[in-house]
Amino acid sequence: MNEEKEKPQQSKKQKKPQQKKPTKKKEEDLNRKNKRDDLPAEYLEKVKNLKLTRLPRKAHPLPKSDERNVLITSALPYVNNVPHLGNLIGCVLSADVFARYARLRGYNSLYICGTDENGTATQVKAIKEKKEPIEVCDYYHKIHAQIYENFEIEFDNFGRTSKKLHDEIVQDIFKKVNAQGYFEEKTIEQYYDEKAKMALADRFVLGECPHCGSAEAKGDQCDGCGKLLNPIDLINPKSFISGDTPVLKDSRHLFLNLESLAPKIEHFISTASVKGKWTSNSVAISNSWVQNGLQSRCMTRDLTWGVSVPVEGFEEKCFYVWFDAPIGYISITAEIIPEWRQWWCNPENVELWQFMGKDNVPFHTVLFPATLLGTGDDWTLIHHISTTEYINYETGKFSKSNSRGVFGDHVAEMPFPISAWRYYLLSNRPEQSDSVFNWDDFRNRVNLELLPKPGNLVQRVLKFVYTKLDKKVPVVKKEELDPVDVEFLKGIKEKILNYCESMEVTRMRECLKIVMDICADCNKFMQDMSIWEKGTDETRKRVVLGVMCNCIRIVACLFEPFMPSFSAKIYFFWGLREVKMMRFS
Ligand code: ZN
Repeated sequence: MNEEKEKPQQSKKQKKPQQKKPTKKKEEDLNRKNKRDDLPAEYLEKVKNLKLTRLPRKAHPLPKSDERNVLITSALPYVNNVPHLGNLIGCVLSADVFARYARLRGYNSLYICGTDENGTATQVKAIKEKKEPIEVCDYYHKIHAQIYENFEIEFDNFGRTSKKLHDEIVQDIFKKVNAQGYFEEKTIEQYYDEKAKMALADRFVLGECPHCGSAEAKGDQCDGCGKLLNPIDLINPKSFISGDTPVLKDSRHLFLNLESLAPKIEHFISTASVKGKWTSNSVAISNSWVQNGLQSRCMTRDLTWGVSVPVEGFEEKCFYVWFDAPIGYISITAEIIPEWRQWWCNPENVELWQFMGKDNVPFHTVLFPATLLGTGDDWTLIHHISTTEYINYETGKFSKSNSRGVFGDHVAEMPFPISAWRYYLLSNRPEQSDSVFNWDDFRNRVNLELLPKPGNLVQRVLKFVYTKLDKKVPVVKKEELDPVDVEFLKGIKEKILNYCESMEVTRMRECLKIVMDICADCNKFMQDMSIWEKGTDETRKRVVLGVMCNCIRIVACLFEPFMPSFSAKIYFFWGLREVKMMRFS
């Protein structure tokens, strides 16, 4: 919206606008007429042939001292399977919305994600599929990248934690923490498979869950109730390798001494959570870890697929995946930016925004900061944490193991545009409580919200511009505006400011609702102005359509983080090749 229209002077009294409210019957007639009155063939042809090409991204930015620098990460999806819609909404999709918003606002931003490829889960999958772990990673990394591309997720880099650079950075950070005395060696009892002659870490042990009784719990987590486990907790443990009952043996491991880091962690949580406006849920989860007493946590595992531990006597071991995975954010940045420290060791100038499902909270607010604090260096630590609850599928849970739900690769095969998926998932984003993916609801949301509100508005105004105004968006002078227009635009501006406020605390559902409200306001304004009626003053017609065109441009801009290709189509038809940034003073 241009400045002139936001601060209009009192207009010279013009011909009174025709504000007759259409009667019920007239409205019905109008609706019928609108349905019959299709857009010109030329337009429809364009829609059919419209191909959206993505503009090449600029070189990867470095933080600038005089700008707002925003580093955005999405939890790294584990590489051993195909992500479902629930995985998408919690991490990459939510972070993508914020990253797109940040770019539109002109923040100097960087969006980092990639596949988490180390640990027993990959090794177990490789054994099942009779492949090498790296083959499993190569195969699934490609699938993940393709799905996110299809979902119009725009990363600055989508990297991998199986790269050599990742190992180097993880080992370097470990050495620093170790040099500060925050690692300690302990001997623990661990399951051992005598037949296979190997120690069994995490998922190499299967058994019953002590919490929910599920018969298919894995040594690190129960898929039934989601609780984190130790292999030793399992009832009736069995080796994944041989199926035999394993025996307990002593094994040496390195523990991160969270107890001695506790004062630093507590100080960090209490200050960062206020400054970064963490959700009450994230604060509660983090505090409960701290209040339950921070204990040393085992950061090494007996396994061969992972980052090796640079300590004598630990040649057969790797780092625990939750030690190395968050460092992936750093190494994936380093894949594309040699000066990565300017982002990651720059807490004064960089805000770190991290997106994840709620089960990942303590790893990002306690464990990862503890590791970085333990180095003694000045790292960029989490500023805002955005978490989601779970999204369920119809009446149950999405389930990878039972292939229950809609998975990323199914979406490409279905005849719905990605904007419809993105709209449904984001308007249903499980922010305060769990939400449900339901096919009837999906259909209704698209057919009764997305198509009638913004869809009709755009189509209606575009049709007028094409047929009545010779395809030219009218230029409206501020003195031509009526008080009713000024009042209307004031209301829109207020809503835009609310949208920005909500986005700054990642309340994305609220933002989408606001844009839909703006669409409804515009539709109502068009209706109330009844410019299609015979005898309407030509100037008034032009002014109302000019106001509407500007509003549609704003709507496209506000929708862009949520449905980029939907917005791109609107820009295209409005002849806007390059869209100005969203700046509202
Ligand atoms: Zn369980």
